Amino acid sequence: MKYFIITFGCQMNKSDSERIASVLEKINYKIASKIEEADLIVVNMCSVRQSAVNRVYGLLPKIKKVKSILTGCILKKDRKKFAEKFDYILELKNLLKWPEILNPSPLLKTDNRLKIEPKYSNNFSASVPIMTGCNNFCAYCVVPYVRGSEVSRPAEEIICEVGNLIKRGYKEVWLLGQNVNSYNPIPFSQLLKKINDIPGEFWIRFTSSHPKDFSDKLISAMADCKKVTEYLNLPAQSGDNEILKKMNRPYTIKHYKNLVKKIKKKIPNIALSTDIIVGFPGETEKQFENTVKLFKEIKFDMAYISKYSPRPGTTAAEMEDTVSQEEKNRREKVLTEILKETALENNKKYISEKVEVLVERQKAPGSWIAKTRTHKNVQFESKQDLFGQFVKIKIIDALPWGLKGEIL
Ligand code: SAH
Ligand code: SF4
Repeated sequence: MKYFIITFGCQMNKSDSERIASVLEKINYKIASKIEEADLIVVNMCSVRQSAVNRVYGLLPKIKKVKSILTGCILKKDRKKFAEKFDYILELKNLLKWPEILNPSPLLKTDNRLKIEPKYSNNFSASVPIMTGCNNFCAYCVVPYVRGSEVSRPAEEIICEVGNLIKRGYKEVWLLGQNVNSYNPIPFSQLLKKINDIPGEFWIRFTSSHPKDFSDKLISAMADCKKVTEYLNLPAQSGDNEILKKMNRPYTIKHYKNLVKKIKKKIPNIALSTDIIVGFPGETEKQFENTVKLFKEIKFDMAYISKYSPRPGTTAAEMEDTVSQEEKNRREKVLTEILKETALENNKKYISEKVEVLVERQKAPGSWIAKTRTHKNVQFESKQDLFGQFVKIKIIDALPWGLKGEIL
């Protein structure tokens, strides 16, 4: 019997899919190389944005003939809509019970799904969830409803998992949580230090961070820990104080800019990305212009720009969705254009620099795509097999979405 998993949403969902794969393999399912070969299709969905929900509809014809499971971050409303389309709608928090449900014989011997050893999707970069859920209730967001409240994993368990990964040759770990700064068994800055102390050559990355909880100690830990890379995703969501308030994001743009200033002072070559929502209920042209201003000032390296979509059950869904689709498209385009300019400007500073990169994939025979510590794509040529290795590159050209280099 073969399985195929389709994953939507954030890195956390991708990480969950690695654990789903591991559970299915324990009950003797093998991975199918394409969806057509599968006897079991798992759709790990995401109700965070309407666009991802729409893509699940697109998959329905494909799942008709085989056993199918829907899981992930599913809103009640979406659950009802899909109830008849899938054989099973299963909760991730019950992942350990899936074998019983699918095949009532063997049972997994743990009561905590995060303890399941995932089937990592590659052998050089791994995602390690450090906490699940969220207590923040931003007005637009379903995460607290679909993932529940924050639960942190014990530090020893995380350190043990990372230690094992490094022993097995992993070169990069992504520490995942909806808001890693509120990790609570120990301060997150201390967790970073402990992971940094694990022997071996590897990079540490983490996401997401909430500006309200980003401490000075964390900035210092990032600067001091050599394995922590110079890349930070710091979601602003809006550049306007009024909108931030309506979003239930308890910080001001002054705070955000000051935070960025402190981070850049300690880590001058840091690359910054952000998440932004355009067209939040009631966002006026003037308020949007404040986000434009923020983009021009901060000069982000990357931004994940979403067009607001009302999510049932959230407080923002009660507000009138005043900005037209057309206008949301325009606002998204305006920000993308500024981002293109600022990213290119930042990337040009790399020309002639020598940087260490981690090779991620082959684009074409002899052409490789790697990432810098600052999470920028670098394309270079080499006839050697460099998959999953660290190499030194000299940067020779810069584009808005990446760099070109020569292997040294
Ligand atoms: N925990 C992270 C992000 C989780 S959701 C944080 O606090 O930033 C990922 C992104 O989806 C969010 O950053 C937001 O930009 C976007 N998003 C969430 N709900 C949305 C909605 N209703 N409409 C549009 N974008 C949304
Ligand atoms: Fe959603 Fe806000 Fe929590 Fe991020 S911090 S997951 S945006 S509620």
